[in-house]
Amino acid sequence: MEIKITQAAADQLKPKPSDDSSLAFGNIFSDHMFLMDFERARGWINPRIIPYGPLAVDPAAMALHYGQEIFEGLKAYRRTDGGICLFRAEENFKRMNRSAKRLCMPELDIPFVMEAMKELIRIDREWVPHSHGTSLYIRPTMLATEPHLGVRVADEYLFFIIIGPVGAYYKEGLNPVKIYVEDNYIRAAQGGVGEAKTAANYAASLLAGEEAKKKGFSQVLWLDAKERRYVEEVGTMNMFFVIEDEVITAPLTGTILPGITRDSVLRIVKDWGLKVSERSLTIDEVIQAAQDGRLKEAFGTGTAAVISPVGQITYQGEDHIVAGGKMGELSQRLYDFIVGIQYGDREDPYGWVERID
Ligand SMILES: *Cc1c(COP(=O)(O)O)cnc(C)c1O
Repeated sequence: MEIKITQAAADQLKPKPSDDSSLAFGNIFSDHMFLMDFERARGWINPRIIPYGPLAVDPAAMALHYGQEIFEGLKAYRRTDGGICLFRAEENFKRMNRSAKRLCMPELDIPFVMEAMKELIRIDREWVPHSHGTSLYIRPTMLATEPHLGVRVADEYLFFIIIGPVGAYYKEGLNPVKIYVEDNYIRAAQGGVGEAKTAANYAASLLAGEEAKKKGFSQVLWLDAKERRYVEEVGTMNMFFVIEDEVITAPLTGTILPGITRDSVLRIVKDWGLKVSERSLTIDEVIQAAQDGRLKEAFGTGTAAVISPVGQITYQGEDHIVAGGKMGELSQRLYDFIVGIQYGDREDPYGWVERID
C-alpha cells in the first residue's frame, strides 16, 4: 500500500514554538497527520499523510456511543548528534493490536504503520525539539467511525497518528510526587479492559483523580477491585516499590496496563543483579515497610515521565514519607540510564533504539 502525501501549503504551516523551555505536554501538534480507513470488506485502505486538521466524523459514529477507541503513546527523541530516534516503538503497536483484539477492532500491519509513522516524523522533522529532555510525542489512535446506533462491533474504523513537541516532564529536576491510595473507587476489574489502552479506563478514573487533586495529590494509586488490598498502578504509570533489597512491581494479571517502561525497568534491574519480583503486594505491606523504614523507594514508570519518584504515600488519612521525600538512588540511576539511551548519550546494550533520520 502506498501512502499518499499531501504537503501543507506554505500558508497552512504553523509557527513552531520559539522556546523549548516553554513546551508543556499535549497541546501543540505538528503540520501533518497520518490517516487510514478500515472497511470490513476491504481491510485497511487509503493511507495518507495530510495537513493536520479537524476530522469529519458522523455524529452516529459508533466510537462516540459505544466506546470502541484505543490509543498509544510513544516518543521520538532528538539525539545529541542531531539525529532522530524511536525507543521500542514496535512494542507500542504490538500492544495496540492486543488492545484492538480486546475491543473487537481490526489489527494493524505493524511494519506498515511503523513506516507510516516514520514517514510522518520525517516530513515534520523540524518539529522534533532539540533541548535535552524534550521530545516529540506520538499518539496513534483508532476509533469506530461507522454511523450506526445499536450495540455491536463496528464495520468501519479510522486509524490516525498525530505528533507534537512536548517539554521536559520535570522542569525543576525530578520532583517526587504525593500519591493518594484510592480505597473507594476502582480502575479496572478482573476480566475487564484494564490491560487495554482504551478511553474508557481513563474516563472511569477521572472522578477519583479530581477528588485526590482537591486534597492536594497529583496521582491516585489504585488498589485491586475485589479486595481493595493489592496495589496495582497509578494514573498512567506502573508502580515499583523497593522494600529492603527487593524491587517489586505488580504482576500482569489483566487489570493493569503492561507498560513498556515497566518492561524496560524489569530488564535493566535484573541485569544490574538486583532482586526483582513481579508479585502481588498488599498496601498493608507497603505501609508497614514505610513505617519500619524498609521502604527504600517508590516510583512510577511510563513513557511521559520515564521514572517518577514518589515522595509521599497517603493511605486512610495517614501520610507516609518515602525516601525522605527525595528521589531515591535507584530511581535516579534508572532515569539517567534510560534517558541516556534514548538521547544517544549512552550505549544501548538492548537494541531498543532505532534511528530514523
Ligand atoms: C500508558 C500507560 C502506562 C505506561 O505505559 P508505557 O508503555 O510505559 O508508557 C501505565 N499505565 C497506564 C494506565 C497507561 O495508560
